[in-house]
Amino acid sequence: MPEHALSSEAVTGARNAEPDRLRELLLSAFGHREFRPHQEQVCRALAKGQNVLLVMPTGAGKSLCYQLPGLARGGTTIVISPLIALMEDQVSKLWQQGMRAECLHSGRSRDALRAACSRYLKGELDFLFVAPERLAVPGFPEFLARRKPALVAVDEAHCISQWGHDFRPDYRLLRERLPLLQPTPVAALTATATPSVQDDIIAQLGVSPVERHVFGFRRDNIAIEVREAKTTDRVALTLELLSTGERLPAIVYAPTRKEADKQAAAFGELGAAAYHAGLPGEQRERVQRRFLAGEIRVVVATVAFGMGIDKADVRTVIHTALPASVEGYYQEIGRAGRDGLPSRAVLFHSFADLRTHEWFFERDYPEPSVLSETRALLEKGPLTRDRLSTRSSLEPEVLDKVLEKLVIHGGLRLETASGYRPVVGRDGSGAPDDSFSLGKGAWLESYTLQRRHKRAQLDSMVRFAQGETCRMLQLVRHFGDEADSGDPCGQCDACRPELRKKVNRVPLAAEVGWLWTILEALRRRDAQPLGKLFGETLDGQINRAHFQDLVSALSRGGLLEVQEEQFEKDDDIIRFKRATLTRNGQSATRQMLAELQISMGVEEERPSRRRRTTPEAPSVVRRKSSDAPMESELVAALKRWRRDRAGEAPAYRVLTDRALHGIAESRPADERELLAVSGVGEGFLKNHGEELLRFLRNYH
Ligand code: ADP
Ligand code: ZN
Repeated sequence: MPEHALSSEAVTGARNAEPDRLRELLLSAFGHREFRPHQEQVCRALAKGQNVLLVMPTGAGKSLCYQLPGLARGGTTIVISPLIALMEDQVSKLWQQGMRAECLHSGRSRDALRAACSRYLKGELDFLFVAPERLAVPGFPEFLARRKPALVAVDEAHCISQWGHDFRPDYRLLRERLPLLQPTPVAALTATATPSVQDDIIAQLGVSPVERHVFGFRRDNIAIEVREAKTTDRVALTLELLSTGERLPAIVYAPTRKEADKQAAAFGELGAAAYHAGLPGEQRERVQRRFLAGEIRVVVATVAFGMGIDKADVRTVIHTALPASVEGYYQEIGRAGRDGLPSRAVLFHSFADLRTHEWFFERDYPEPSVLSETRALLEKGPLTRDRLSTRSSLEPEVLDKVLEKLVIHGGLRLETASGYRPVVGRDGSGAPDDSFSLGKGAWLESYTLQRRHKRAQLDSMVRFAQGETCRMLQLVRHFGDEADSGDPCGQCDACRPELRKKVNRVPLAAEVGWLWTILEALRRRDAQPLGKLFGETLDGQINRAHFQDLVSALSRGGLLEVQEEQFEKDDDIIRFKRATLTRNGQSATRQMLAELQISMGVEEERPSRRRRTTPEAPSVVRRKSSDAPMESELVAALKRWRRDRAGEAPAYRVLTDRALHGIAESRPADERELLAVSGVGEGFLKNHGEELLRFLRNYH
């Protein structure tokens, strides 16, 4: 072999030395043969000394992305982590893999802390986990800086942003203290940050430049459905959804602790238990253990408190109320199908949810003027919380919130005898002897921004729920995923309109009244055409589709019969329906009506989904009246086309009047546009789509 060939091989080997070293470590230290998607490029950037913000969903393998480059660089990797349990868990995993890891948090004895610190100084640690509040301990950051760490990892980095959904004021200390550790590269990791929260994280870290990597938000195995439903119907709808075995195990998210308890009781027959912060720790642990063991099959959790639940085979996640942010929602539905098998996420919402959220928003984010007034009470000098509460006109809980906001945004300073402490505890109340004095921060601007951001999060959630495009795609875009294909998922309710199927429920009190009105009208005069019956009873009170739902309920309950009839007029066969009371219908009581099942086309209730310009499903009777609009030529032609296809069957089986009018109006040019017409489903598209499109193209 000629010499130069040898040397060129040696050069290639040297060029590949770094990636090889990472791969070697991947196998030798972690036992993995391959990188998961995106891990390699992130590891490589950090190993080279870049700062990185990594946003990948839970379970994607973020820990490796800082652990591997940390090892590769040599020295200790410092990990800032917000929860003791999380830290302990990580440390024990690393121990098992033969790495040297320690943690510093308030749960450890003085001796254990001292020993850990001394090991750090001697360079005996690969990983040192640190609770963020440690950074406030005088001299601690300087102590860390006595050795240059290999890497600083900020886990759950969204906690640093007051715009994220789990802001931890302690994390703010990083901005001041991280520079002490420079030029060590920083890895900030989170599963939940929108582009604006990502910006904020980067700004708050106070290091630059920061490479941003956002990946992997698409979940191929979760079929998302969003359904509009009255609050009073949601428990019954959920029960119905979960009533077949393959849909369990399930997590149901309820908006409040009280609701969680109530719903858990309602799902008792499925094997359900509540899980929220109001329950004693041991009970929560028991619920979690039994859920993992499969003894409890439904956990009803509050949205604020589902994070402890980690089970791979959750088949369904249901939200019985609208979450406050898309970030939270994504996290929650992400608990479905961790095993990769097909799973479902169903969200129930209605306009009422928005009003509830607005109420909480007003309570938790008071007008800036309320903050100003409280701050003004301190102009003459510091006061304790107790004193403040006697001088302020605010309720103690509201005052606590106001003080918390003011401290976080720098409008007030909190002095405590015992060193650092959060403004309010986990239970949401503060210590009476905390003392407050004026702060110099630009609190008003900062608070106003945060308030606006909270409100915008809610608006995004509402937009998502009312959105008409692929749900998964909306989520992926929400997080700014870079590597996504941008394809619709093909399995959500937007991709598959036929999922917007009918659902059953008991009638509301008002509906019982309307059902009664219909029966009474027929008792006065039986065998009326439906259009006439509607015109003379409930027209003006409810819409025609809703009336139709009520008539169907009566018919299914055996109280009346609906017959299709037809007559010929001007070369056109006109069909209509006539309702006749049955014997049961003659004698039914109001009480019996309350037990009927309303099969409700949820789609019908969505004003945004309906073409406002489309006339109500026209009835023959109505169209005959003189002020009714003339049927367009296209509508008449479409009806002839439809009748040809229907043969012996009723014409609406081919295409409902509503869909037919929608088609006449929008004149779809291709399958997608055709499918967008309200009332046109996959079935029609398959059987008649092509033919109809041809018909429309040829129609002048
Ligand atoms: P995240 O922090 O993103 O939620 P983790 O870091 O906890 O995810 O990783 C989830 C799981 O994936 C862990 O059990 C981890 O051991 C495993 N994992 C990570 N990277 C790889 C890999 N390259 N090959 C195989 N398993 C991996
Ligand atoms: Zn989709």
